[in-house]
Amino acid sequence: MWTCRHCGLIVMSHTVEPEIDDEGCYFICPGCEGRNRLVSAGDEGDEGHVELTQPDV
Ligand SMILES: [Zn+2]
Repeated sequence: MWTCRHCGLIVMSHTVEPEIDDEGCYFICPGCEGRNRLVSAGDEGDEGHVELTQPDV
């Protein structure tokens, strides 16, 4: 799960659609509509299935 950096809402990662733009991956918090950055959690290239996680900072 993810935590919104703006309002602290716990967001289940399967309930929001990750998006990508020039700055990278992110999801939009359903609570405050704030942008939360995401990073790839591990190896890519597995049939396009890339696990996304939140950076620690
Ligand atoms: Zn939020």
